[in-house]
Amino acid sequence: MQTLNKSYSARQKDHRTYLVVNSIACLGISVHLALIPLFFLLGLETLSAINIFSFFIWLIAWWVNRSGKHDLAIGLMTCEVIFHTSMVVPIMGWNAGFQYYLIGAIPFGLFNARFNGKLIVLVSVSLCLLFISLDAFTRDVIPALITPTAIKIINYINTAIAFAAIGVISYYFRVASLTLEQKLELLAHTDSLTGLYNRRRMQELLELQIALFSRNQLKFSLIIVDIDHFKKINDTYGHFCGDYVLVEVASFMKKNLRVGNVIARWGGEEFLIMLPDTDINGARIVAENIRKAVADKHFHLADDDFSVTMTFGLVQHKKENSLEESLKQADTALYEGKHAGRNRVIG
Ligand code: GH3
Ligand code: MG
Ligand code: MG
Repeated sequence: MQTLNKSYSARQKDHRTYLVVNSIACLGISVHLALIPLFFLLGLETLSAINIFSFFIWLIAWWVNRSGKHDLAIGLMTCEVIFHTSMVVPIMGWNAGFQYYLIGAIPFGLFNARFNGKLIVLVSVSLCLLFISLDAFTRDVIPALITPTAIKIINYINTAIAFAAIGVISYYFRVASLTLEQKLELLAHTDSLTGLYNRRRMQELLELQIALFSRNQLKFSLIIVDIDHFKKINDTYGHFCGDYVLVEVASFMKKNLRVGNVIARWGGEEFLIMLPDTDINGARIVAENIRKAVADKHFHLADDDFSVTMTFGLVQHKKENSLEESLKQADTALYEGKHAGRNRVIG
């Protein structure tokens, strides 16, 4: 199960890397394709030829990415950006803005899984040094045959494309961090076996409900449910089958509760149900319905057919009580039910 989850998240991560590399590759291919005729028309045949070369490198990177070698694609694209900038800026001059692509290469390179701490620093410092060197040596370069207005336009286009590339990369980083946040939140709130809320989350929701109760006198009831003789199920069929019963009972109860009612795994084979806007009579009806439905359900394990019963302890929260006192009352009712013979609703 764990291996399955691992490979699933690895595939998701790969897919995200595939998407960002694919988007940037498409952008790069289009830019180089546009630059080939542009440089040619400006009389800069060398730069036009460099862009034919660059175009093919990006095309190869796009194809390599499609075949699953994302790191190789990222490496090819990063090297091409460094090569292209080093060739074009000395000819076109600083004012044409071709150096801005170097800035985008840093966050883009971070998608390469092989980048570790030291390598990131090394690449970032090298790119920075290249940027500063180009600044130092190309500020005064004025390309022949190109008017200042044309240089200005090329500069604006380069700036816009570099911003777009950084925007796309940042967007994917944001999506990645949001997905991770949601996953972590879900993990922190969920019981891993049954998929119900865990005790910690239920505690938070109960405190919220208490606040609503104090402010608006919104009544609510609590039901503690405990599976009868669960130890016997474990002892007879094994722990794995006990887990199966827990999962089945949990999903059955969840399905049979109204929207707005909340159920959590409160302990080992114990569940807590919170019923907002429900008095003790309403809670009794809900508990009795679940009790009957679960008792009538048949479980099949190891060629055996058996049923499971549960005991329910109820309480309607009162203003003179604290949350702990109400929970204690429900617990006391539950143990009364156990002593009275189990498979019943008390409270
Ligand atoms: P009672 O009717 O009095 O509630 O009896 P019981 O056997 O249900 O209660 P007891 O407290 O004696 O035993 C509860 C058992 O539940 C013991 C524990 O090993 C088992 N249990 C707790 N958590 C899990 C779990 O996640 N999976 C499985 N399979 N068993 C669990
Ligand atoms: Mg029990
Ligand atoms: Mg118990």
